Amino acid sequence: MTSYSAGKEVLSYCGKCKLPLGHTIVAMKDTHTIGKVKCNTCQAVHMYKDPATKSKRVKSSATTTRKRKKAISVNDLWIEEMGKAAGKSIKYTIRETFNVGDILDHKSFGPGIVQNLVDDKIEVLFQHEIKLLVHGK
Ligand SMILES: [Zn+2]
Repeated sequence: MTSYSAGKEVLSYCGKCKLPLGHTIVAMKDTHTIGKVKCNTCQAVHMYKDPATKSKRVKSSATTTRKRKKAISVNDLWIEEMGKAAGKSIKYTIRETFNVGDILDHKSFGPGIVQNLVDDKIEVLFQHEIKLLVHGK
């Protein structure tokens, strides 16, 4: 176990030098947490940045997490609705008329459930997306 205190040397990421470098501890947050450090190379005083933590944060981007969550929720809803739905699926053609709760089979999107009637269109929940389709023509 390593114990830190002011005046000791520690490896910290330096924002100015853009490198993990030797720093001298200026102040401690508490007995186990390093507060401020001074860069031995450029003499800049800044908050301690763990070089390992820094590289981990770069890898996980917030946008990919958000995208993945959205895909899961549509998929989950689809699985739930398909589980509840009873009856045979109807092959989707533009001439067929559909109602809420109908299961249809689309040649490009696969099986879907009619969620809503929007004007002369139907809102259909497919495994990966929700689509508006024309019907009853
Ligand atoms: Zn520096």
